Amino acid sequence: MQFVEFARSQTALRDAITAAYRRDERDCVALMMEQAAMPDTQVASIKALAAKLVAQVRKERTKSSGVDALMHEFTLSSQEGIALMCLAEALLRIPDRLTADKLIRDKISGGDWASHLGNSASLFVNAAAWGLLVTGKLVSSHSEQGLSSALTRLIAKGGEPLIRKGVDLAMRMLGKQFVTGETIEEALANGREREARGYRFSYDMLGEAAMTEEDAQRYLRDYEVAIHAIGKESNGRGIYNGPGISVKLSAIHPRYARMKHERMMAELLPRLKGLFLLAKQYNIGLNIDAEEADRLEISMDLVEALANDPDLNGFEGIGIVVQAYQKRCPYVIDFLIDLARRTGHRFMVRLVKGAYWDAEIKRAQVDGLDGYPVYTRKVYTDVSYLACAKKLLAAQDAIYPQFASHNAYTLSAVYHLAEGKDYEFQCLHGMGETLYDQVVGKGKLDKPCRIYAPVGSHETLLAYLVRRLLENGANSSFVNRIVDENVSIEELVEDPVAEAARFGGLPHNKIALPVELYGAGRKNSAGMDLANEHVLQKLQQALLASEQKAWLAAPLLADGNESANPAQAVRNPANHQDVVGQVQEASREDVELALQAAVRAAPVWAATAPAKRAEALDRMADLMEANMPALMGLAVREAGKTLNNAIAEVREAVDFCRYYAAQVREEFDNSRHPALGPVVCISPWNFPLAIFIGEVVASLAAGNVVLAKPA
Ligand code: FAD
Repeated sequence: MQFVEFARSQTALRDAITAAYRRDERDCVALMMEQAAMPDTQVASIKALAAKLVAQVRKERTKSSGVDALMHEFTLSSQEGIALMCLAEALLRIPDRLTADKLIRDKISGGDWASHLGNSASLFVNAAAWGLLVTGKLVSSHSEQGLSSALTRLIAKGGEPLIRKGVDLAMRMLGKQFVTGETIEEALANGREREARGYRFSYDMLGEAAMTEEDAQRYLRDYEVAIHAIGKESNGRGIYNGPGISVKLSAIHPRYARMKHERMMAELLPRLKGLFLLAKQYNIGLNIDAEEADRLEISMDLVEALANDPDLNGFEGIGIVVQAYQKRCPYVIDFLIDLARRTGHRFMVRLVKGAYWDAEIKRAQVDGLDGYPVYTRKVYTDVSYLACAKKLLAAQDAIYPQFASHNAYTLSAVYHLAEGKDYEFQCLHGMGETLYDQVVGKGKLDKPCRIYAPVGSHETLLAYLVRRLLENGANSSFVNRIVDENVSIEELVEDPVAEAARFGGLPHNKIALPVELYGAGRKNSAGMDLANEHVLQKLQQALLASEQKAWLAAPLLADGNESANPAQAVRNPANHQDVVGQVQEASREDVELALQAAVRAAPVWAATAPAKRAEALDRMADLMEANMPALMGLAVREAGKTLNNAIAEVREAVDFCRYYAAQVREEFDNSRHPALGPVVCISPWNFPLAIFIGEVVASLAAGNVVLAKPA
């Protein structure tokens, strides 16, 4: 039985990427620090330029912002402006316009908005980030109550028409701030003025994470239409000087995941190749955006296939985004350089820090992974960025580097490292222009900068917007600190390598490893990363071995008794040819024997010290964890679980054991909590291991003996 879809060719460089995922953060940081280190004189020059850039940005920042219109037109206080932005953002989450309109008309204007938009806490969650936009300052002291009464005041003042108009304007403003145009034609037209000043563009058709094939086909069509429009606009300016496009693979296939390897190569690859062929026809660059870390390896398979495709021979517009916050980043770059040289391509590689940091940390914790795919301190990402920048710049024959950052130090460092090299900067529309206005053009630093320009309607903006807000809202983020006058210029332009050294290269002390999530009292259950090739290989072998085993499920009767019932075959519900094993049901006599044994054993177990019982449960948890693949194999073949569900099933069982063990280890007193005696547990079929173990171990922990009837 094929459990895992394998396809990719194993090369040493690909293996290095896979292995780096599980490397200790300390080792990765040490390596990056060594590679990013620069002579003191160079660091001084970098700081000096960065300080100049920061001072200028701060000066420009005090000029008007796009929010002025809103504030003036409605004579709003900043508090009201922020409250309105929060409301506008909440309304964006309502999928259809009709409902949103109704909500404003019928409910909000009556002052009853809070109960209709979820609780007010979630309404104002991004207040700090909106504050940045409205006031140009990050004020952490917006109280929910203040904002809530500002909104009520606003409603009282202007009633329904003001709110509707205000929300509409706030939405359009949001749009203007983060989106270049609602259609590609509008975006291209809006880009021309900045192109004349020396900027370049990479257009991004908003939309990601298609949920259905219909969505994916729509996004694909959007990309195709956009490439034709961009291609015509480019009018032969070429990959480097002309505009290009950025594509999210999750937008063009609803099942973009490692576990769907075969389907990705059969369905997503041709779609992507189609887009590349179009881009090639117009000679424009097409960048594959980097998404979540668990998609990195499958994205490399796709890139490898494209690079080896004779139809794309010689095309220099294949663009790949790499994320410096990933421990695997330098190995990905090594692989790409090698791939480019082997296939005669020159890739465009956009180096970013990475936009999914919060999600990566959370996913690793939820999934109980060995460690984090990303660094845990921002400054390590900054260091990694510099080390990776050097690597990219050293391979001009194979790579056209594109450095995307809004951080003045990072920009300045790249500028100094890249002297005499062929490269470009990149920034996001509406975010980095004040900084790059000092870079682009004659009399400035005279380096090109490409603006990443989202295109789409307000409805498609949300996912993008939320990511930008998360980024801007983090108090470690550069765009946030640059407008915070409490942060001095010296602090802003600190050398990250020196700063990392002060942390000793150690992981963040407040971000516990997934296994330590519950503190010293209880180990988190270990998961399995089904996007890691090495994990998948080992799992495949273990699952095959478990398939060969002659499994027998039989009553466990005390005192060496065995059931006399005949065994019957248990078949895989998805494939009746697959006999999972044999089962011997218990007979009435077996049950009688078990009952007698339970009654005999009950006083002994009830008198056992709770700590001893806890020890046994912990051992049980460890054993299940050690035998996870075999248990998963049974969950897949007998209960029809997917591999992911099978992992969750085993982990839940492990967690139950450790949870109840922890409960009784410290505080349980046998004399105050007398045992019930024999307890019968009957489990349902849908969680044959997790719920079965959960009820059994809860009873055992409390000192009862258990007669367990499995599903
Ligand atoms: P800084 O403020 O210097 O850096 C912030 C970054 O540091 C965070 O985004 C995060 O990556 C990292 N960080 C924050 N806290 C921590 C921590 N505790 N530990 C470790 N690291 C931390 N991102 C993608 O993921 N995929 C893309 O395809 C992509 N395309 C982009 C294209 C362009 C043109 C631009 C400008 C950005 C793109 N981004 C993409 C977003 C990019 O990742 C963020 O804009 C970038 O991380 C912000 O970095 P900075 O240097 O501007 O700011």
